[in-house]
Amino acid sequence: MPDFSRYFDCNATTPMSSVAREAWIEANGRFWQNPSSLYREAGMAKQELERCREEVADHLGIDEPERVIFTSGATEANNAIIRYLAESRRGRLLVSAVEHPCVEAPSQAWFGEERCHAIGVDPVSGGIDLAEVEVQLRAGGVAAVSVMAANNETGTLQPWKELAELCRDHAVPFHSDAAQWIGKLPSGELGECDFLTGSGHKFGGGKGVGFLVIPEEADAFHGLIGGPQEGGRRAGTENLPAVIAMVAALTERSDSDLEEVAAANAVGRDAFEREMTAIGMKLIGADGPRLWNTSMFVLPHTKNLKWLIRLSQRGFSVSTGSACSAGRGNPSRVMAAMGLDFDEMGRVMRVSGGWETTGEDWSDLSAAIREVAGELTQ
Ligand code: PLP
Repeated sequence: MPDFSRYFDCNATTPMSSVAREAWIEANGRFWQNPSSLYREAGMAKQELERCREEVADHLGIDEPERVIFTSGATEANNAIIRYLAESRRGRLLVSAVEHPCVEAPSQAWFGEERCHAIGVDPVSGGIDLAEVEVQLRAGGVAAVSVMAANNETGTLQPWKELAELCRDHAVPFHSDAAQWIGKLPSGELGECDFLTGSGHKFGGGKGVGFLVIPEEADAFHGLIGGPQEGGRRAGTENLPAVIAMVAALTERSDSDLEEVAAANAVGRDAFEREMTAIGMKLIGADGPRLWNTSMFVLPHTKNLKWLIRLSQRGFSVSTGSACSAGRGNPSRVMAAMGLDFDEMGRVMRVSGGWETTGEDWSDLSAAIREVAGELTQ
């Protein structure tokens, strides 16, 4: 098993958990048949697929497992949901200004700029402007609302429960991209969102697999077309071993385990942040509720890539966020929404630990950053 004590990029991806890996290996031996075929073994694969669907539904507090559709990940899920909403509903999409590009781009593509209304966030806490959502809903003509549960860059948590309620009161469907929330925080009430997105590789469940949730009444929903799989709602042979592995990772920790993990792990992260502030880093979004594993800050000087390379030479994996989307030099919408100027965007660093990251790992990272700070000022 590789050593992940210096891996601080869990919001980008996580290694498969050992439980998930074992489940995947076993599933490749036992359940390789096509669940749509008609002989006995294929029937067993189909049954296993339905067991997985029930487990995901249970985990999210959903009574109707058929609301769950397996996909290749969150990008596909978000594309399919936004497209369905654009095609089936009239009016504007209210979408937060800090969404992942795989929500933002489909919103622009299928609703069109004139039908998208961006909802801003508080630059200090990163929290969505709930009052603005309410004003827009009261004004009418809203097709749907899409606000992520937890932000991949800042870790900011959005009030999805309140948003789901507010939308319900106005009979407007609510979608939440929960790719960064699921597996990190208790998820037993997420099924209250009409539409929901999850991704296996964000919680140790493996890459190229995820799921989406639709409301029961969305009979005409379809993602990929051209096959009868997933009740005709997502064509393509199901990647059953990947689904089994993802579900193994998802159910590895109960909601109360996750509460403990969150409380324990935030201690190391918070101590790290105190040290970072002491050496002149500016924390982003630290005043609002955040994921327990994430810290984003502006470095005091020198482009972030230079820090990243020196940390990488010391064995630490960190990220520059999508402050300037890798190599493209575009300013980040998320950072702009958080009130950063262009110069600051080039000095942003995101670190995101994992479930097993210890306080010592955080303090080793802090020591390495202090060393690099010393080198880069010389
Ligand atoms: N949504 C969020 C919030 C993410 O952080 C990511 C991954 O970075 C995605 C969606 C895309 O997920 P996937 O890699 O499963 O397509």
